[in-house]
Amino acid sequence: MRIDIITLFPEMCESVMSESIIGRARKKGLIEIECHQLRDYAFDKHKRVDDTTYGGGMGMLMMAEPIALCFEDICSKLEDRPHFIYMSPKGKTLTQQRLRELSQMKQLCILCGHYEGVDQRLIDSFIDEEISIGDYVLTGGELPALVLADSVSRLVPGVLSDEVCFSEESHYDGLLEYPQYTKPSVWRGMEVPEVLLSGHHANIEKWRKEQALDETRKKRPDLLEKTKTDENG
Ligand code: SAM
Repeated sequence: MRIDIITLFPEMCESVMSESIIGRARKKGLIEIECHQLRDYAFDKHKRVDDTTYGGGMGMLMMAEPIALCFEDICSKLEDRPHFIYMSPKGKTLTQQRLRELSQMKQLCILCGHYEGVDQRLIDSFIDEEISIGDYVLTGGELPALVLADSVSRLVPGVLSDEVCFSEESHYDGLLEYPQYTKPSVWRGMEVPEVLLSGHHANIEKWRKEQALDETRKKRPDLLEKTKTDENG
């Protein structure tokens, strides 16, 4: 998978995407990530990419043309047009289900907004999808873009050591993950549940399923309601 990120802060995105699991996956060539400085596509000597809003208002808005030029430049170097996503608090909230679908795509391009956002005409004519990371507002789209790039990259085959790493995780099948424990088996007087020390795989599996249901019931009952509604069509 290839991900292009259009941003005013490429160094910030590059540094996060160079660490840990994603950094290693890039080195292995499993994912390709390129961060593009939007100011390189500005057309005045001050490298401005924003201007005041028509109709008045306090903030500045990102202009359409530098973004269009940057996206067209990215497209000119690729065989196919990437799926173009604008990170926006007005978008559909990101879910694990949508991430699974996005992880099947060959190429994504992510636009990070700033200031008051982006000229609507750019959104109407270029953007395929607006994605939000939650019902709150950040100062810029970099953190949301990094959330998307990280969470979609880890679903690309080979990035994690085994598919089980995410297929047994929270949100994969509408449930939260069961509780987990590591060594020592007794910590400050608290013991690991006995079944996990038994080596009996069927019993461990049964326990984990019950615990996953229990966790979901306690912490996110809305997820169980949603699964029921989805099953009933
Ligand atoms: N004026 C916009 C509004 O009310 O919808 C908010 C603009 S926000 C200050 C600046 C940029 O941060 C946005 O263009 C977007 O790229 C990003 N952003 C802020 N909150 C976000 C969220 N919850 N999800 C995704 N992107 C977000």
